[in-house]
Amino acid sequence: MEITPYYQKDIECLHCKNKFKSTKIRSKFIKVESHETDFQPIYQNKDINPLLYNVFVCEHCGFSFTDDFTKYFAPGLKEIIKEKISTNWIPRSYGDVRTTQDGITTYKLGILCGTLKKEKFVSIAGLALRTAWLYRIMENKEDENRFLEIARDRYSDSYSSEDYNGTQMSETRIIYMIAELSRRIGDRELATRYFSKVIEKQSTSIEPKLIEMAKERWQEMRG
Ligand SMILES: [Zn+2]
Repeated sequence: MEITPYYQKDIECLHCKNKFKSTKIRSKFIKVESHETDFQPIYQNKDINPLLYNVFVCEHCGFSFTDDFTKYFAPGLKEIIKEKISTNWIPRSYGDVRTTQDGITTYKLGILCGTLKKEKFVSIAGLALRTAWLYRIMENKEDENRFLEIARDRYSDSYSSEDYNGTQMSETRIIYMIAELSRRIGDRELATRYFSKVIEKQSTSIEPKLIEMAKERWQEMRG
């Protein structure tokens, strides 16, 4: 029997606790060919995009989340989510294979739910960044830039509140992302300022690759 790239995973909703299925891609089918300068992975097989399956959408209550979301709901938040999301939710499933447009819809739901639930800025930034990447695949520059700007602003919030502590994102990487996303949306002033901040860290940083990337972008901007 031929193994398909897809499998179904059982998920329990963080909000209503009901169970539903969500599609995932087997790791052996995921091969990254290269990365863009904002770390968008370019996959060898263009027909299978694992980015489409990061957000779990509860078909029962509409709550949408990723593995990064915490299980904890601050007092009152469940009621807010019920009022803003669940009461308007028309039960529908995003559990099957998703189109790029489906993927975008699930990320927008994830951003909305994550913001209501007060997830970390760094998590919201990651969701907005991935939304932008999906628009990039669709060659929709306007919406790509709109979400790059949201991602940039949330990375800035994360940088000032230091909520990236304890995540996979280092301070240097947050600063690089603020710079690179600013460059991409044409905010040269902030891009220059933040690329300089990355380069200033070259004697102390344990991420020489990031420093090199910042120098390259900075040179490109001057050239
Ligand atoms: Zn639910």
